[in-house]
Amino acid sequence: MRFSVFLLLAVSSLATYPSVEHEHLVNVDSTPGSWLTHGRSYREERQSPLTQITLDNVGELGLAWYFDTGTRRGLEASPLVIDGVIYSTGSWSHVFANDAVNGELIWQYDPQVPKAWGVNACCDVVNRGVAAWGDNIYLGTLDGRLVALDRQNGHVVWTSLTIDPTRPYTITGAPRIIKGNVIIGNGGAEYGVRGYVSAYDAHDGSLRWRFYTVPGNPEEPFESTAMEMAAETWSGDLWWKVGGGGTVWDSMAYDVELDLLYIGVGNGAPWNRHIRSPGGGDNLFLSSIVALRPETGEYVWHYQTTPGDSWDYTATQHMILADLMIDGALRKVLMQAPKNGFFYVLDRASGELISAEKYVPASWASHVDLSTGRPVETENADHSIEAKTTKPAPFGGHNWQPMAFNETTGLVYIPAMDGLAPYSTARNFTYLPGGHWNLGQSESDVVLPGNRHLINAVIKRIFKGHLLAWDPVTQKEAWRVEHETMWNGGVLTTAANLVFQGTGDGRLVAYRADSGEQLWETRTLTGVIAPPISYQINDEQYIAVMAGWGGAPTLAFNLPGSTNGANGRLLVYKLGGEANLPVTPEARTIPTPPPRHGSEESIDAGQVLYNTHCGRCHGAGLEGSGLLPDLRDMGHDGTANTPEVFKAIVLQGAYREMGMVSFADVLSETDTEAVYDYIVDAAHTRLEEREASPFWREVEAWFMDLAGALIVWFI
Ligand code: CA
Repeated sequence: MRFSVFLLLAVSSLATYPSVEHEHLVNVDSTPGSWLTHGRSYREERQSPLTQITLDNVGELGLAWYFDTGTRRGLEASPLVIDGVIYSTGSWSHVFANDAVNGELIWQYDPQVPKAWGVNACCDVVNRGVAAWGDNIYLGTLDGRLVALDRQNGHVVWTSLTIDPTRPYTITGAPRIIKGNVIIGNGGAEYGVRGYVSAYDAHDGSLRWRFYTVPGNPEEPFESTAMEMAAETWSGDLWWKVGGGGTVWDSMAYDVELDLLYIGVGNGAPWNRHIRSPGGGDNLFLSSIVALRPETGEYVWHYQTTPGDSWDYTATQHMILADLMIDGALRKVLMQAPKNGFFYVLDRASGELISAEKYVPASWASHVDLSTGRPVETENADHSIEAKTTKPAPFGGHNWQPMAFNETTGLVYIPAMDGLAPYSTARNFTYLPGGHWNLGQSESDVVLPGNRHLINAVIKRIFKGHLLAWDPVTQKEAWRVEHETMWNGGVLTTAANLVFQGTGDGRLVAYRADSGEQLWETRTLTGVIAPPISYQINDEQYIAVMAGWGGAPTLAFNLPGSTNGANGRLLVYKLGGEANLPVTPEARTIPTPPPRHGSEESIDAGQVLYNTHCGRCHGAGLEGSGLLPDLRDMGHDGTANTPEVFKAIVLQGAYREMGMVSFADVLSETDTEAVYDYIVDAAHTRLEEREASPFWREVEAWFMDLAGALIVWFI
């Protein structure tokens, strides 16, 4: 009896879960209600052909259902929708399969990533989604595994380790699948790794090919002729010991007709070119778009956006393929708005540069020379002798948040950012293996103001975000919408002249695609960074988005105007939806800190050490977004309230299982006590501020705002 029920289930499942094949992925418009691959199609344009939700009725959108992923870490996934099931990923590489109509959880998969691996993730323990092929879906885990899961029940079909586990590699990007090859890269260039992209057989997980993006040990043979060419553009011998960087951590696109796979390559390791390659050189294929044969990984062409990158100006940002009429000719183009501030339009058959213009302020280069295809650097680009303040910041003019291209308006919608950062050169660079950044910057050149209100006032003025509608033919802005905060969501556009974007201040908004006029918005209770998607089932169109605040700048800063007010959720909207989000008021009490401890000198030393080693995850100046514990709260659970307990955590790794690894390789006992002294002092200061009169708090806020404005003016 049990066997026959099982058979019945198996048969009905076969009927409702047809295999995803090449023909489906190259003809996604034949199943417009689905979302079969990361960017909806291989062209990655993120335009849905669905038109039930229109300019006229978009105001009637309401919540259909939501699913709580159970964490407050970042959510960056673009879900897939196949045959009535929506597949999304949460933090720590969890996978969720929900009924796309009512949200019921069908299965979930937790790959059990060791929490201690989180220290290797520069930019939060995020994941950008799964890929589908055959009867499986495919996941890259934070600790470098590629996992095939049975799409019907989430059972593991095979697992392949894609990395050297002795190096701080991660995977956060979504795989792409081309003719049975699962393509996956990795992250880790901030720490020091060698970048590559690999293809695995979708059936059994065996490695088909691997393309390295930077050369390795000069004493070993080149893996490819492309590496032989690249090696000519590097100097010295430090780079390959650190790793060189060039990780392929996010974007890819595939041209079906030209049979070309495009990969976006990341920044150098270390960042600083004067240390990485002291004799100069372009350092191929850092910050490049590279075209490969998807069946062999053979190199075809490359275009380097930032030769000799020294600013974390990755070219891993979203790439969109389109056919544009330029100067009277229909051109097959690839478009990218990488971190470096220029919007590029390339001929995707040859890699030839068609045009490049600044889409945000950029001070490192004056322009891109169309005859050479190279940027013309300004004197601001040279930070070998003295520190320079340069635009854009390492967060980029645009980061991983996907853009969208609307074929009717002809516009590309960019989650754009203004910003700047100090860049400098370390006097004595020492490579630190393991989970430490190796940027080659001089930490002492980057002095953060001690007052947290002042930090926030400065950040608010330096970092700004907007939704930018960009005409790729004229290389000009069509319209923009300014946002409250710099860090906002990816973009969806639809054939009904609509654009959808979530925001860092906790909204999902619909705009007219041709004008930017706002038509609808709803509260999401927490900041949104993921891109919305759209699907249709039983004649109802849905808009789905992962709402969960996180990512690199949210760990480092409590971004002004942002909110991290609820658990991360998958939110799904439809016309007339009547569900409500549970409003969970924050029961936030400020614990009484342990007594002040240590001398003024120790507290000051602790502040510098904290900002060097701890602030990247726990918040600069102890001001984070609440993704990781606010260390000023320590002791609230009756534990880490003495210097001894604090040292057991920081030096002996007492909280390793929770993700807090030992820092004994960089901090001494005295250092650790100084950090403790600083945190306790800051906890008392926070308490005193709470107890101050509202009037004086306002006066201080006003004064700090003014001071922040002055600081930014002087920069
Ligand atoms: Ca980077």
